[in-house]
Amino acid sequence: MNSWLMRKSLVVPIFAVTSLLLPVGGMAQAAAVRGDEARPTMRTQVVILGSGTPVADPERWGPAVAVVVNDRAYLVDCGPGVVRRAAAAVEKDGIAALKAPNLDIVFVTHLHSDHTLGYPDLIFSPWVLGRTAPLEAYGPHGLKKMTANIEKAWQEDIRVRRAGLEQANATGYKVNVHEIAPGIVYRDENVTVTAFPVKHGIWKEAYGYKFETKDRKIVLSGDTAPTDEVVKACDGCDVLLHEVYNPHGNELNDRHWKEYFRTFHTSPAELGDIARRAHPKLLVTYHQVLEGLPEEDLMEQIKKEYSGEWVSGQDLGVY
Ligand SMILES: [Zn+2]
Ligand SMILES: [Zn+2]
Repeated sequence: MNSWLMRKSLVVPIFAVTSLLLPVGGMAQAAAVRGDEARPTMRTQVVILGSGTPVADPERWGPAVAVVVNDRAYLVDCGPGVVRRAAAAVEKDGIAALKAPNLDIVFVTHLHSDHTLGYPDLIFSPWVLGRTAPLEAYGPHGLKKMTANIEKAWQEDIRVRRAGLEQANATGYKVNVHEIAPGIVYRDENVTVTAFPVKHGIWKEAYGYKFETKDRKIVLSGDTAPTDEVVKACDGCDVLLHEVYNPHGNELNDRHWKEYFRTFHTSPAELGDIARRAHPKLLVTYHQVLEGLPEEDLMEQIKKEYSGEWVSGQDLGVY
C-alpha cells in the first residue's frame, strides 16, 4: 500500500461510527461543504490543517487547526505551511472560509517554533492575496514582541509591495495582537473562546482553548502534560483534540528525554485517564509525537487505555 492510501485509510475512526465518515453530520451538510449547490452549513466543523510536530513529516504538516462556524475560520496555531494547508482544505472540502484572504484570526497556544513558524505566512500571504483586514492574533505574552520582529524583518517586502506596482493595500499585513490571560478571550456572534492554562514543561505560558458555538463545544489541549484543566474545559464536550506521544520511542530510554516527555507531553495512559474523566463525545488525537515508530503502535496503546469513541487525527481531516 502506498503511503497516501495508508494515510487515507487511517482517517476512518477506530470504532466505526457511520456519521463520522461524513465531514460532520448528515448528507446535506456533506453536500454543503463540498460546495455541491447546497447552502453553506451552519454546523461547526473542526478541520485539522496540520497534525504534526517539529518532525519534517511530509504527511503531517505544522500544527494548525481551524474551527469553522458560519463561514468564518478561527485558527488555532500556525505551524509551517498553514496557508497552503488551508488552501488544500478549500480544494478538498470546499470550505470557503479557509480561502487565504479570509484567514484573519488566530489563537496561538504557545510560542514554540513548530506552532508559530507559519505566523509570518499567515501575516503576509493572505495580505498579498487580497486580505484588507488586519490579522487578529491572540496568544501568550511574547506574541507582541514576536510580531514586531516579524514586521521589522519583512519591512523591505512591505515597502516594495506597497510602493511598487503591486499596489498592496495598507492594512492587510498589520496585526492586532492580544496578549491573553486565562478566561474568555474572544466573543462574537458565532463563538465564545475561552483560554485555559496548560502544563508544557518550562514554558511560562501555554494555553488550551475552548470554542463554544450554537451547536458544539470543542476543546483543544495545545501541547501539554496531563492537566485537569483539560478535563474541566471539556466536561462532556463534543470534540476534544488532545496531543499524545509514543513512550515506546528509543529516546525514552534516555533519562533526560524521559523527563522531557513526562513534563512537556501526554502519554497514552495519561490520555486515557484524561479522556475518561473529560468524557468527550469524540476524542481526536493530534500533534502525535510518533518517535519514529508507525502510527499503529501509538494507536494500539491508546486503544488499550480508552474505550470511548476516538480517532487518530490526520491532516485535512474534518471532525
Ligand atoms: Zn508542539
Ligand atoms: Zn510545544
